[in-house]
Amino acid sequence: MLLLAALLLAAGCDRGPVKADKVPAAAAADTTAAVVDDCCPPVVAADPHEEHGEAEASDLDQPVAALFEASCEHDMKTFACDECRYEVGVTKAAADLFTGGLLHTAQPMREPVRVPLALTGEVRFDERRVAHLSPPAEGLVRRVLVAVGDRVRRGDVLVEIDSGDASEAAAALREAQARLAVAEQAHTRAGSLREQGINATKDMDLATQELESARIRLEEARARATRLGLGDRDGANGVLRLRASVDGTVLSLHAVGGEPAHTEEVMATVGDIATVWVWADLYERDLAKLLPAPLPAEVLVRAWPGQTFAGTVDFISPSIDETSRTVKLRVSVPNPDGRLLAGMFATVHVLLPGDENALVLPRDAVLEDEGRSFVFLHHHDAFYVRRPVTTGRAWGDRVEITGGLTGDETIVAEGAFLLKSDVLRSKMGAGCAD
Ligand SMILES: [Zn+2]
Repeated sequence: MLLLAALLLAAGCDRGPVKADKVPAAAAADTTAAVVDDCCPPVVAADPHEEHGEAEASDLDQPVAALFEASCEHDMKTFACDECRYEVGVTKAAADLFTGGLLHTAQPMREPVRVPLALTGEVRFDERRVAHLSPPAEGLVRRVLVAVGDRVRRGDVLVEIDSGDASEAAAALREAQARLAVAEQAHTRAGSLREQGINATKDMDLATQELESARIRLEEARARATRLGLGDRDGANGVLRLRASVDGTVLSLHAVGGEPAHTEEVMATVGDIATVWVWADLYERDLAKLLPAPLPAEVLVRAWPGQTFAGTVDFISPSIDETSRTVKLRVSVPNPDGRLLAGMFATVHVLLPGDENALVLPRDAVLEDEGRSFVFLHHHDAFYVRRPVTTGRAWGDRVEITGGLTGDETIVAEGAFLLKSDVLRSKMGAGCAD
C-alpha cells in the first residue's frame, strides 16, 4: 500500500488537479490516510471503467438520502418507480408478506458475545424416539422382511426366526389347551353323574381341582408364548416373529438369513431421527462454565463441511468417568432432514456467554452480493433499502454487526432473501450498456 500511495502521490503532484469523483471507497480511504499533505488534494485514482461510462457506483456506497432523491428516466423518483426502484437498492414489500409470515422485521439486539467451547462427540439416536428390538429367544434367522429405511407400523413383522424355544413353547401351549379340554369334559361328566346320585362328592372335588390346574397350566403356557411373541396360533412350526414395537423407520437391522439370532443382541432399531443426541466429553475443569444448562450449542460434522447444526445442551451426566476425568454432555439437535446420522463423529461448540456485549442480528438477516454484506433496512411505508454492514463473530444463529448499523434501525430479519432475489433479478434483467 505504501508503494501505491507513493505512486499516487507522484501522479497527483506531477499532473496537477485530479478528478475526485468515482473513486472506489476502499482506495479513497487508504490514499487519504497516506497521501494527504500540503502538496496534493486528498484523492486520486481514475476508475478504469470510467471512460466506458458504466462505472455506476453501487447503491451500497451512496448515502440513503441520495438514493431516495434520485430520479429515473420515467421522470419520477427512482424508488417510487416499479421498473427502476431496484437500481437504487430499494424494494417494496407489501404488508401481506409480513402478515403472511414470510417476512419479519426486528431491531439489531445487544447481546453478550458467545464464546465457543469446542468439544468432540458422537451423534446417537435420541433414545426417546427409538426402540431397540432383540429376539425374545435364541434361534436362527429364517427370513428378513424389511430393509433399513423402510417405514413400518407397530406390530409389523421385521424378521422371522426359527427357534427351538418357540417350538417348545408352541407345543406346551397346544398340550395345555388339550389338557384343559379333557379336564373340562371330565368335570362336566362328574357333575352329571353326581346329579344322578351315582358319584361321590370326592370325585367331583377331584375333577374341579384338575380343571383348575389345567387352567393355570394353560395360563402359564400362554404367558410363555406371549413372551416369545407367539400368538395362540403362531409358532406351531417354531417360527418367532420379531415385530416393530413402535411406528417409525427401520434405522438399523442386523439380521441375515441362516445366521444365529441372540437374545442379548439388538437385531433392529425402529423409530425416527427427527432429533438426534450428540454426546460429547467435557473436562472436569470446564464443568463450572456450563452450569446451569441449558446452553445453546452448534454441531459440526465432516459429512456437511461448513454447515452448523444448532442444538441445546440439555443434559450433563451426574457422574465423572474415573479414568478419563471427563463428563458426558448431551446436545439435543433438531434433524428434520435426517442429515445427521447415528455414529457420525462431531465437533460440538457449546456457546458460553462472554463478558462483552455486541450488536447482533439473526444470520438470515445478513445477505451477500459480490462479496459484500448487506441488510434490508426499513425506510418508510413499504420501502426497504439495502445497506452495507460489516460482520464480526458468529455463533448459533447470530452474527455480530461491527459496522453499518447503530441498533436503532428496523431490519428485515426473516425472509430477507426474498427481497434480495427481487433486487438481483432486476439488476441482471437491466443488463449492461455494452
Ligand atoms: Zn423508472
